[in-house]
This record gives sequence, C-alpha cells and structure tokens, in this order.
Amino acid sequence: MLDAPYGRRYRSPMRRARAAEVAVVNLAACDRCGLCLPLCPPEAIHLEFNDLVVDRGACTGCRKCVAPCPVGALAMVDA
Ligand code: SF4
Ligand code: SF4
Repeated sequence: MLDAPYGRRYRSPMRRARAAEVAVVNLAACDRCGLCLPLCPPEAIHLEFNDLVVDRGACTGCRKCVAPCPVGALAMVDA
C-alpha cells in the first residue's frame, strides 16, 4: 500500500517501507542455477550450503526474481 504524501501514514523517504510481500523459494523445485542472485537489487538472495535463501528482512518485494526463474521456484507471499 502506498502512503499518502502528507497523510497520517506518511513516512520519511529515507526510511525503507516494509515490503507488503516477500519472495520465497521452493527448494524442491530450485535447481540452484544461480540466475536469480544478481537480479535482486538489495542482494536479498543467497546460496547457503548449496540451498537458496531469501532474506525476508532485506527483500523489498520488487518481484524481479520471480518471472526469470526457469523452474518457477520463486513466489511471492504476504510479508
Ligand atoms: S533462478 Fe530459480 S532455479 Fe535458479 S537459483 Fe534462483 S530460484 Fe533456484
Ligand atoms: S522480490 Fe525483489 S527484493 Fe525480493 S528477493 Fe526477489 S528480487 Fe530480491
């Protein structure tokens, strides 16, 4: 949800708004190709011990990782 510029819900643009949705990975489908890692602007996607991990606190919900995944392993969920 967008905040009204001067309304009650206004927050300073210096503070990143909490994402309404975050990306999650289906590890059963992910083939660890690494394609999504450089697509994530805040670098919220990492490989840890050969498993893909999305840092929910860093994910901005931009969805840039979802469509390019060749096996559809990334999806958005409510934050
Ligand atoms: S693009 Fe898809 S299959 Fe490749 S590492 Fe990312 S989530 Fe896994
Ligand atoms: S939705 Fe955007 S910020 Fe979140 S993991 Fe995907 S590319 Fe990164």
